[in-house]
Amino acid sequence: MKTDSTNNDVEILIVEDSPTQAEQLKYILEQHGYRYSVARNGKEALASIGRRLPTLVVSDVMMPEMGAYELCHEIKRHERFKKIPVILLTSLTDPTEVVKGLESGADSFIFKPYDEGYLLARIGYILANRHLRESESPQMGVEIFFAGRKFFITSDRLQILNLLLSTYEAAVQKNRELSVTQDKLKQLNDDLESANKELEAFSYSVSHDLRAPLRHIDGFSQLLVKECPDQLPPKAQDLLRKVSERANFMGRLIDDLLNFSRLGRQPVDKRPVILTELVRQVLEELAPEREGREVEVRVGELPDCMGDAILLKQVFVNLLSNAFKFTRKKERAIIEIGSEPDENPAEFLCFIRDNGAGFDMEFAGKLFGVFQRMHRATEFEGTGVGLSIVQRIIHRHGGRIWAEAKIDHGATFYFTLPHNL
Ligand code: ADP
Repeated sequence: MKTDSTNNDVEILIVEDSPTQAEQLKYILEQHGYRYSVARNGKEALASIGRRLPTLVVSDVMMPEMGAYELCHEIKRHERFKKIPVILLTSLTDPTEVVKGLESGADSFIFKPYDEGYLLARIGYILANRHLRESESPQMGVEIFFAGRKFFITSDRLQILNLLLSTYEAAVQKNRELSVTQDKLKQLNDDLESANKELEAFSYSVSHDLRAPLRHIDGFSQLLVKECPDQLPPKAQDLLRKVSERANFMGRLIDDLLNFSRLGRQPVDKRPVILTELVRQVLEELAPEREGREVEVRVGELPDCMGDAILLKQVFVNLLSNAFKFTRKKERAIIEIGSEPDENPAEFLCFIRDNGAGFDMEFAGKLFGVFQRMHRATEFEGTGVGLSIVQRIIHRHGGRIWAEAKIDHGATFYFTLPHNL
């Protein structure tokens, strides 16, 4: 590469519409003794070249008014300009860019984001080879088909080689970066997995240890009311009953949390499951929820699937309990369970629809979070853990889950499961 003092003979025309990117280029070139001028698009660049020939053009590809490919065409078809090497700056998102670069007669690509060393090496290389170009005899054009289009390439051999080698070099570099990123990602994943395991174990033991003192709070407050009814005024007895009631509720929260964290540790035992039978059992168990109410339950066709029957039963228990609960205020509840084919033929879509209270879709993102509730406890009781358990089970089966709802117009929960193929 040239030394900084000799770089001073070189004038580089920067063609860049982004002021920050132009500043970055200017800074690098200035640091290495290059002279430069700046144009904001192809048109300005052509005008500038007309006034004074630069040694080299470094141009961004995407620009308003006139982009780099057109600029390059113009430079290369002009007798006076055509020996000026053109380097294109691109992020290479589309492989046809390489062919467009060849077609426009560009000399090299620099791929964004570039590092300083790479940019300077490319410039140095193109400048060093510039004189070789002058001895190259012009080539006949060649027609090629690429990505369903015809391109006509008239670049000379050196140009073609330079351009292709710069692309290849960038691809190799990107590949190397990708493999480093992949290694890092794997390490992060392993760390995350072990942090998750630790967290699971922690929440399990905390929940477990909280259970015993809570039982005592409940037990002693009940005992107090029972053993000393005469010493306690009715107000105090009432308050003690509330203490016991809240302790019971906390017990339920802890149980749900324990179930949830147990799920993360328990292996999933996948076997063929007859869903129709599983849903029938769940509906039978939930029969008390329907007592004294008018509820129509429609069960559509359900395919057999592969899964852990115990866990999948929990999914239907939680979703159907919610459907019964959130339709409680409807005079006539309708609950529908059914299935549809999924885009992925190895899976199917299952849904549970109700015509109950629904919820605001604005908060749908929080629906499956632990302790997240869309309704007040005074309206509908609950702990806010049921759906997190459902989501965890579906994810552990490799499926997806989401919901659609409208306030007062019911909710539909969808999830995917693998077929028993
Ligand atoms: P819980 O029902 O114990 O509160 P879940 O985790 O099962 O906990 O549900 C979380 C919240 O999602 C509920 O509090 C409710 O606001 C909303 N939700 C769940 N299922 C339905 C449904 N079928 N209709 C309307 N809202 C629902």
